[in-house]
Amino acid sequence: MDKILVTRSSMPAYEEYIDEIKDMWETHWLTNMGVKHKRLQEELKSYLAVEDIDLLTNGHMALELSLQAMELQGEVITTPFTFASTTHAIVRNGLDPVFCDIDPVDFTIDVDKIESLITDRTCAIVPVHVYGNICDVEQIDRIAKQYHLKVIYDAAHAFGVTYKGSGIGSFGDASCFSFHATKVFNTIEGGAVCFRDPKFGRALYGLKNFGIRGPEIVDGVGANAKMNEFCAAMGICNLRHINEEIEKRRKVYTRYMERLGNVDGLRFNPTQSDVQSNYAYFPVVIEEAGFGENREAVFERLARHDILARKYFYPLTNSFECFHGKYDTSLTPIAEKVSRSVLTLPMYADLPMEQVDRICEVFLDGRHR
Ligand SMILES: *Cc1c(COP(=O)(O)O)cnc(C)c1O
Repeated sequence: MDKILVTRSSMPAYEEYIDEIKDMWETHWLTNMGVKHKRLQEELKSYLAVEDIDLLTNGHMALELSLQAMELQGEVITTPFTFASTTHAIVRNGLDPVFCDIDPVDFTIDVDKIESLITDRTCAIVPVHVYGNICDVEQIDRIAKQYHLKVIYDAAHAFGVTYKGSGIGSFGDASCFSFHATKVFNTIEGGAVCFRDPKFGRALYGLKNFGIRGPEIVDGVGANAKMNEFCAAMGICNLRHINEEIEKRRKVYTRYMERLGNVDGLRFNPTQSDVQSNYAYFPVVIEEAGFGENREAVFERLARHDILARKYFYPLTNSFECFHGKYDTSLTPIAEKVSRSVLTLPMYADLPMEQVDRICEVFLDGRHR
């Protein structure tokens, strides 16, 4: 049988994409904010229900340049239970990450622990929506206002998620999405920043386009992080099918929960109230005492059966070699524990139900020996 990978990129029909890119052989306009870029930008603004949005080469540059556009200095409170990108974006801006532990139920930043980490050097909070679970945006907003901190959300996992009917990208000073091939919505590689402040928007635009303001005016020292027209065209096509894709993911999620939901020693993120999820991942926490096996044993058995689950997020970013033991992971014990016991199982819109059943069978197989 074929390998089951942890994810599989969504693609439009071949003809649909070809049809979308055809006119580029007449215009020869391949990048630099062309018509596809403009159209995707408008469509995403409407789909994500946000005031303003800019498109970039990838989610990492969305984060890194958003932080830079805010001209921050000092410490940034964030979470170690995330992808390398979040922490690297902070460090690459010359800022000091201060790691806050995570909530044991939804694995997002623990809002009850943020305030004790605030010092006179704190300038911002970079929370991460995890697996499609959202952070406590209301408490974070309150803390940010009280202490005059900027909030930059890593919303890479939260495309299309809404809270009380509002697009999740409308919270904080900026929300950064990733449109990487492995995400719920992809533009092959790509990313976006949602924001309200037009001054921030101008700064971000300068940073993504060499600081070029006009044909003869360069008023900033910018980088290059523009989304090209082929990527934008992929986005235009994929966006047509996004509701269908999320609905299919919901069905996969439901099937997994039917098979695994009541098994002793397995823990799942409960559904969050007032949240419309995107079912981006299917995480399961394996508690050895109750389940009879640890995460590593399950991971390896699945791999032996050509089912590639992912230890995600593991290791924690505050334990990376590149930081030379600079951060103390014992200060984020819940993140440490979840990171050592969580597996994300294969999850994508076209994952057949028989495959979900097979994954669950192999997952549970070790307990009966
Ligand atoms: C994917 C991801 C990123 C980075 O996005 P890219 O588009 O791959 O650069 C950042 N943060 C999180 C949590 C992610 O999952």
